[in-house]
Amino acid sequence: MVQERCNVCGKECVDSVFAFADYPLVLRPIPDELVSFAEKQDIPRTVELDYVHCTQCGHVFLRTPLEERVENALYSSFYETYPASDIEETATQAFVKAFRSCFERDGSPRRVLEIGCSDGGGLQALDGPGWELYGCDPSPRALKAQERGLNVKRDFFSPELYSGLSFDVICSRHVIEHIKNPFDFLEGQARMLTQGGKLVIETPNGEFCMSRGLLDSFHPEHVSLFTIPSLDYLLGQLGFQIEYVDDRTQNLIVCASRIADSSPEKALKSNLDYASKLAVEFSETYSSWRNELQTHVTELAESEESVAMWGAGSSGVRVLALFPEIIERAVLVDRDESKQGLRFYHLDKRVLPPVACKEQDVDAIIISSQYVDAICKDIRKLGVDSKILGITPYVRWIDG
Ligand SMILES: [Zn+2]
Repeated sequence: MVQERCNVCGKECVDSVFAFADYPLVLRPIPDELVSFAEKQDIPRTVELDYVHCTQCGHVFLRTPLEERVENALYSSFYETYPASDIEETATQAFVKAFRSCFERDGSPRRVLEIGCSDGGGLQALDGPGWELYGCDPSPRALKAQERGLNVKRDFFSPELYSGLSFDVICSRHVIEHIKNPFDFLEGQARMLTQGGKLVIETPNGEFCMSRGLLDSFHPEHVSLFTIPSLDYLLGQLGFQIEYVDDRTQNLIVCASRIADSSPEKALKSNLDYASKLAVEFSETYSSWRNELQTHVTELAESEESVAMWGAGSSGVRVLALFPEIIERAVLVDRDESKQGLRFYHLDKRVLPPVACKEQDVDAIIISSQYVDAICKDIRKLGVDSKILGITPYVRWIDG
C-alpha cells in the first residue's frame, strides 16, 4: 500500500528523494532457522523503497511502508540476532548524557518509561536513586531485560499498557522512525506525561546522512527520516518545544517539554527551504559516489575479477544490491565471528571468515566499513595481496 499523505502534516504533495525497486528487506545475516521461519511466513526477500519529501512541511518519509504482518514478524522475531556493538555503547553514552542534561535544572525524574527498550541496557544506564524504571519491547530481547530485574513488558507500545500510570519522562531510541503515524505515537505519550514531563527521542539523523549522501538511514523499516526542523514541527503540533539537541553523529537526540503556546505554522516556510536544499545535497553527493563506484564495478565485472565484500552488514549488502553485476563473483567476509556461517535472506550467500579471501585468491576486496586503514592492515596480515577498494565515505583504491 502506498502512503500518499505526509505522515507529519497530512498533505499530499511530495518530491522524490530516493527510490529503489528491489531493496533487501533484511540487511544483516541471519541463522538458517530464521530463514525458514521467514519463508514459512511468506516474508518478501526484497521490497520497494520510495522515499519522498513533503513539499508542505519538508518531512522525509517512505511512501511504501511495510505491510503490518511483515513488520510484526520482523519486530517480534528478528531482533534477537542483533549483536550489541561498540558503536551501540557509544550511542548509549550520548543518550545518557542527553537525558541527564535535561534534568540538571529541574531535579530528577521519578518514573521513567522507555519504549522499545530492547534488552534494557539503556534503561538500566539511566537509573538513579528512588527512580522507577519501566520499559516495553516486542522482541525476545525484552526477556533479557526481565532477567536484569527490570519492569519490562514484551509488547508493542500502546498507552493502554500503562493505564493509570503517569511518567516524568518517556524515552524512545530508534523507534519513532519505524512508526507509520508518529503524531499519534507522540500524542499517546503526551497524555501519559506528568505536568512538566519530558520526551527524549533518539532517531537517525536525517541531515547527517542526507548531506553526506549516505544511504544508511534509508531502510525498509524506516517510515520517517527526521531532521531537527521536521521533528521540531511534529513536536510543536503537540505543544512541545525542543530544549536539548545532540546532532553531532548519525544519531539525532532531542529532549522536549511542553510549552503553553506554540506556533508551528511559522516554521513551515523555513522547513521547506531547508528540506529542499537537503534533498538536492543528498542527490548530488549520492549520485557522485554511485557513479564513481559504478566505474570501478564495471571494470571489475568486465575483467571477470573475483571480489570479496569485507563487512557483512548493511553497507556491504546495500552495495551488492546497487551493483548486481558483481554479486555472482562476490564472497562476503566479516571478522565478527557471530556473523560467520549466517546467510542473507535475499541472497544465497553465507558470511565467511576473512581467511576466505586468501583461500579463494580473490582479485579485489571492497571494504564497506569506514575503518579502512585498520582493515587494510588485517588483510595484509593474512598474507592477502589483492587490490583494495575503499568506498566509505568516498571511493578510492587503497595503496599498501
Ligand atoms: Zn508534511
